[in-house]
Amino acid sequence: MRSWSISAGRIFGVDLRIHWTFLLLPLFVWYTEFASHGSANEGRDLALVGIIFASVLAHEFGHALVARRSGIRAKSIILLPIGGITQLDDSQPSPGMPAAEPLAVGAVSNRKAAKLAPWQRDIRIAMAGPLINLLIALLSAGIILAVAPHVDLRTWPFMQSRNLPRSLVWANLYLAGFNLLPAYPMDGGRVLRALFSRRMDAIQATRRAVSIGQAFATLFMLVGMLSNIWLTLVGLFLFIASQMEERSVAFQSVLERVHLEDIMLTDFATLSPADTLEDALEKAVHSLQDDFPVIRGSDMVGVISKQKILEALRVEGNGYVQAVMNRIFEVAQKGESLASAFRKLTARNLSIIPVVEDQRLVGIVTLQNLMHSMALLAESRKLRKQALNS
Ligand SMILES: [Zn+2]
Repeated sequence: MRSWSISAGRIFGVDLRIHWTFLLLPLFVWYTEFASHGSANEGRDLALVGIIFASVLAHEFGHALVARRSGIRAKSIILLPIGGITQLDDSQPSPGMPAAEPLAVGAVSNRKAAKLAPWQRDIRIAMAGPLINLLIALLSAGIILAVAPHVDLRTWPFMQSRNLPRSLVWANLYLAGFNLLPAYPMDGGRVLRALFSRRMDAIQATRRAVSIGQAFATLFMLVGMLSNIWLTLVGLFLFIASQMEERSVAFQSVLERVHLEDIMLTDFATLSPADTLEDALEKAVHSLQDDFPVIRGSDMVGVISKQKILEALRVEGNGYVQAVMNRIFEVAQKGESLASAFRKLTARNLSIIPVVEDQRLVGIVTLQNLMHSMALLAESRKLRKQALNS
């Protein structure tokens, strides 16, 4: 997904990316104008593309802002011509995250949001995008009618570069309409998934919503070929989007299915709190590990990284591991899923998680080894698929 989009900077701390299909839009607008009038005005065509872009952006920020009010941060927004995909950072699943805005109002609404069930929260986030577009459509229609009553808002084609005010109203109506279709990953489909998730697990619910989404996409493409090229294009975007979702669901389900005992490092070096930093560095040199559990007797008392040892040596000279180690760490049970370990690592910005069984340290999982394992898992899945296809 990332590889098919280009970075367009950051807004409100959210990565903004533009999917390559958005770059086709100017060409497409120019082509349809040219086909219907035999001429095209590039300036107006670009303005129409700009209107669509701004409307999609407003839609996505609707999602991102409501998500943030429920304590979920948006990681990135990828813009497609029929809407966008807001990737939420669900590494902090509880709504306990401090509100980004230090206003009392924000804090109150956060507490209110905490009472919502996850499926209710998901429906709220999903509805925010289309509602913003409906709002923009209503407001702009009202302003246009008040300021320039001669602009006819109801003549077909609703969206064309010759009438930009009308296009603004209709671009937003179309965006709201398409996104409300119960075709995952459109917002209507997200609502559907949230409703499914009341009776089945999240992955199953997403799978079911995705297959309904793909049925819609296919229908659009077929009907579009017989009637309207725009519809074919929408079907195509929908298909691309639902495939991306399917892949991420598949990946997520691997993460949920693999347990830490399958990938943890069982052959690892440990340090003692009484080790000097120079001894620790000496040990670190002979190990591939970047992070070490610190053990006293049979108790885990902290964690320390190679980086930290080096920094401490450089700044304060030789000392004891005890003084420098990180005493705050999370442990995981060996039966926990990869996804859960990954959430723990990213939520607290840790680079190592000791894996325990009956209070006993049986392995470690480091960010480094988790990344490797995930890449290996993805690779082995691909190989298995190839074996099945051949
Ligand atoms: Zn949306």
